[in-house]
Amino acid sequence: MKVTDLINESKKTGFSFEVLPPLKGSSIDRVFKTVDALREFNPLYINITTHRSEYVYKDTPDGLYRRISVRNRPGTVAMAAAIQHKYQINAVPHVICSGFSRSETEYALIDLNFLGICNLLLLRGDKAKHENRFTPDADGHEHAIDLQGQVNNFNEGYFLDGTRMDLVRTPFSYGVAGYPEKHDESPNPDEDLKWLKAKVDSGADYIVTQMFFDNAKYFDFVERCRAIGIHVPIIPGIKPVVVCNQLTVLPKVFHVDMPDTLVTELRKCKDDAAAKEVGVEWCTLQAKELISRGVPSIHFYSMMATESVRKVAKEIY
Ligand code: FAD
Repeated sequence: MKVTDLINESKKTGFSFEVLPPLKGSSIDRVFKTVDALREFNPLYINITTHRSEYVYKDTPDGLYRRISVRNRPGTVAMAAAIQHKYQINAVPHVICSGFSRSETEYALIDLNFLGICNLLLLRGDKAKHENRFTPDADGHEHAIDLQGQVNNFNEGYFLDGTRMDLVRTPFSYGVAGYPEKHDESPNPDEDLKWLKAKVDSGADYIVTQMFFDNAKYFDFVERCRAIGIHVPIIPGIKPVVVCNQLTVLPKVFHVDMPDTLVTELRKCKDDAAAKEVGVEWCTLQAKELISRGVPSIHFYSMMATESVRKVAKEIY
């Protein structure tokens, strides 16, 4: 079932969260533990992130370094299938441009189609750690909208080389990312919104937002989207703070602000346990207000925060 249908048919505000594929060499059971901890709140769907490969340097016996490419978190497609089949909950794997060629993406789409997974989140993906700006793979896509084009063609039954296929059972439905506080590379909010509208006009069924800590930014974003003709559901993404240093790390990594009240409360925290409590309280307040304003669903960024998301969900669902 499509994410938008799941949301429309839900009698209450929807609940979803994301999981990361385990680090290479770790067991899938860690991910199942997260799902086990949160499934009593009836998630409508579960997102599975995708991570590009990165270069690392290894010592060699002759005293030199060798540069090798390593994917620390492989397995998104398999994880999505494992979750969907084990729990009968719709999986939404992320498909990214970064570090992937068009052919690799095509093979992933074929795998997903065979596995009965029909919901995707299409993203450009983060830049490689060694780069200062995003560079697509030699045969990859530059923007999420280009990836959408490939998925749209696939949905219409065409492979990359233009040949027809007869395997499309349920076409993919997909969402895209939106940034209430602007994407960090965008020269201004209107320009960012222009491209977001282009992504919606190209077939995105819904938008999931970057995390935010100030609901006013989300409400303003929704208003600005509606004003330029974006009418798909805009699912707010929120995250409970769990450790003290996220006070500076989250704004730096995700280019989001924290409101003064939250900053003041976090600065008072003597340890991570105290920060975690503040994080749960703040996130619960955010969620309650979002629900009272009729949001279609709430998406929780649960990395390192399963226990906190569970506490918030207990309060609101
Ligand atoms: P795009 O839509 O391509 O936008 C990137 C920038 O280019 C923006 O500034 C936009 O305004 C501009 N732009 C867009 N289209 C065009 C165009 N055609 N021409 C010129 N400019 C354009 N990253 C991962 O690596 N893995 C994940 O699993 C992952 N999951 C995420 C989930 C969510 C909900 C969100 C919000 C982000 C996620 N990210 C993930 C991070 C995301 O990949 C980065 O934020 C990335 O920098 C931008 O992705 P995008 O899809 O928004 O890119």
